Amino acid sequence: MSSPTKDIAIIGCGVAGMTLALTLHARGIPCKIYEVRSTIYRTTGALILSPNALRILDKLGVYEDLEPKGFSFQKMIFKNNAHETTDEYYLGSKELFGYDCLRLYRRGLLDHLRFEINDAGIPVFYGAKFSHVVSETEDGVEFAFEDSTTKHCSLLIGTDGIHSTVRRCINPSARPVYAGMISINCAFPRSALRMPPEHPDYPLPVAVQSKPGTFIMAPQDGEGSTIFAGTVALYPEQDHAGWDELARDKAKLLSMFCKDKDAWPDIVQSAMEAVPEETVAIWPFYNVPRLSKWSSEQGRVVILGDAAHAVPPTAGQGASQALEDAYSFTIVLAEVAKGREWNKSLDAWEKMRNARVDGVKKLTQLLNKTTLPKEEREKLEMETWGSGVDQTWLYCRDLENDTEQCLKDAFGN
Ligand SMILES: Cc1cc2nc3c(=O)[nH]c(=O)nc-3n(C[C@H](O)[C@H](O)[C@H](O)COP(=O)(O)OP(=O)(O)OC[C@H]3O[C@@H](n4cnc5c(N)ncnc54)[C@H](O)[C@@H]3O)c2cc1C
Repeated sequence: MSSPTKDIAIIGCGVAGMTLALTLHARGIPCKIYEVRSTIYRTTGALILSPNALRILDKLGVYEDLEPKGFSFQKMIFKNNAHETTDEYYLGSKELFGYDCLRLYRRGLLDHLRFEINDAGIPVFYGAKFSHVVSETEDGVEFAFEDSTTKHCSLLIGTDGIHSTVRRCINPSARPVYAGMISINCAFPRSALRMPPEHPDYPLPVAVQSKPGTFIMAPQDGEGSTIFAGTVALYPEQDHAGWDELARDKAKLLSMFCKDKDAWPDIVQSAMEAVPEETVAIWPFYNVPRLSKWSSEQGRVVILGDAAHAVPPTAGQGASQALEDAYSFTIVLAEVAKGREWNKSLDAWEKMRNARVDGVKKLTQLLNKTTLPKEEREKLEMETWGSGVDQTWLYCRDLENDTEQCLKDAFGN
């Protein structure tokens, strides 16, 4: 049996794919990336990187350059209509978890990682759409692209996102499941906000909770001059065309976004008035259901990142968990390169990562419910988020130590 680390092919040049390539490169393991999009593709939106992710980016030597590009903060403060603080949720804290949380444009993170990939000389083939696995043996995989060309590799890693094609080769029936709600969001200049005059220190980010639900406002650029605003609504599932139609219907989205405007405090009303209609966007919440295996029978096809476990963005862990997957998987491959048996190592890693993602999914579910309108929350009769929960388990994990330990436990040494 040849080593899986001999000739690695990564499908997808997103956060998971690029982090994996960089961590492999740092350990002297070569790989190639195949990406369907072109280099000039531009994505929108901002994402959250929490301390568990920033620790990895710091180890890769990219945190210092990224940090000034985003907005650093510690917690989301929950306020009611009377501007009283009702709760708080830590997304980071230098004192408590080693790093503040960093909110930055997704494009900025991807551009930065792409720069590092180029600098490291890692080959990336753009415009290459993975299609299917032609054959797999215990030595490797022959796989095909949409244009019918084929390639061979010792290990095929799918980091091709929530609608993963590689996942279909492992588990054809696994499909993303709709969580019943969408986020409606937009961005506008901070200068448009009417801060409550009697509360000059009104915090941002903030989650304002009122009868109609929760309205979040968070700065998303280095200067904090652009504010993301978002609210969550229950909405029936649509097919692809239906979601596209809703996304295009900006007037409908704006009216959903501004629903029950009078029930909100003036600061939220000022945000609603500031929204340029054409910027309102939606994000339907989908989960990839729990997959007990993230790899094929023979262990030469593996998925990670959103392909394996996409979660709604509520806990801000999408990109952070993709980074954890990539970093810990490289440690496993480095151990295998030194002689550890492959399939048993892979099995131990999958179990460790699945347990971790279970915790993140549970947290996401609690936070999803917390954002719903009061009467919907009450109907659910289920747990919602409550402060006082220690986030150390999420943000302070020693991933290197834990991955090595999970392999030692599996092999008894
Ligand atoms: C358009 C978009 C906007 C997002 N916005 C936010 C946000 O605002 N906030 C947030 O927290 N998270 C956001 N996310 C999610 C977040 O980026 C992911 O949770 C996280 O980065 C995990 O990334 P990933 O690398 O696993 O998957 P992705 O980031 O989805 O990357 C997958 C990559 O695989 C490529 N690919 C797909 N199919 C194929 C194929 N057949 N062949 C070759 N390549 C393929 C895709 O083009 C893409 O580059 C967004 C994701 C997307 C796709």
